[in-house]
Amino acid sequence: MKGSISKIETSGFVDGPGIRTVVFLNGCKLRCKYCHNPEMWYLKDLNYTVSELVQKILHNKEYFGKKGGVTFSGGEPLLQSEFLIEVCKCLKKHNINIALDTAGVGNGNYEDLLSLVDLVILDIKDTNAADYRELTSYPMNESLKFIEMCNQLKKKIWIRQVIVPGRNDNNDYLKSLKEFIKQIDNVEKIEFLPYHNMAIGKYKELGIDYPYKHIKSMDKVICDELYDKFINMLED
Ligand code: SF4
Repeated sequence: MKGSISKIETSGFVDGPGIRTVVFLNGCKLRCKYCHNPEMWYLKDLNYTVSELVQKILHNKEYFGKKGGVTFSGGEPLLQSEFLIEVCKCLKKHNINIALDTAGVGNGNYEDLLSLVDLVILDIKDTNAADYRELTSYPMNESLKFIEMCNQLKKKIWIRQVIVPGRNDNNDYLKSLKEFIKQIDNVEKIEFLPYHNMAIGKYKELGIDYPYKHIKSMDKVICDELYDKFINMLED
């Protein structure tokens, strides 16, 4: 069995705890208007066997320490779940900590993969179904099914929310996010990521229109202030 991998980064510090190898898998059903990895939207060459990818990850094991491990990201790793299940089964034999960075939209049947995963880093696209579709060009239902399965399996979750100026940098959205997150069990951490437009060059190279070219990058200080406000709201 082979998988389609876009790139592998060997010293990630932000996609899960500790030092991590981050594997970016090709393929995604969503078309988020702010996506900074459009080169990963389509499944390309099947370029890694299970054993090749496992060996590549194990090669970095000595750097993982007690907290680190591997994070599968993309693209959308759930689109290659059968391949990942085989990879994760091998990694578990070596006690490797496994995180899955996902928007929760694959081909269904998430149970087998999730049962091998230690942490889910869940990208919340929007709390409202119409706005979710407007942002991603995809219906929200599949991501809700994924959240339900995470709850059933009591998976530890880190929430990620991209904050886009003029879209969700406001109190009403923060309130709706608070309500949305209530339906997710075992949330261990919440992160706000300021939207940036650094991917414009990639879109030009690929000959794709960049839908958010009119939106400036989110000010990091304002994003941090919104985050503090949100955390206070959660404590109310
Ligand atoms: S889910 Fe991620 S990879 Fe897919 S379009 Fe959205 S931002 Fe891009």
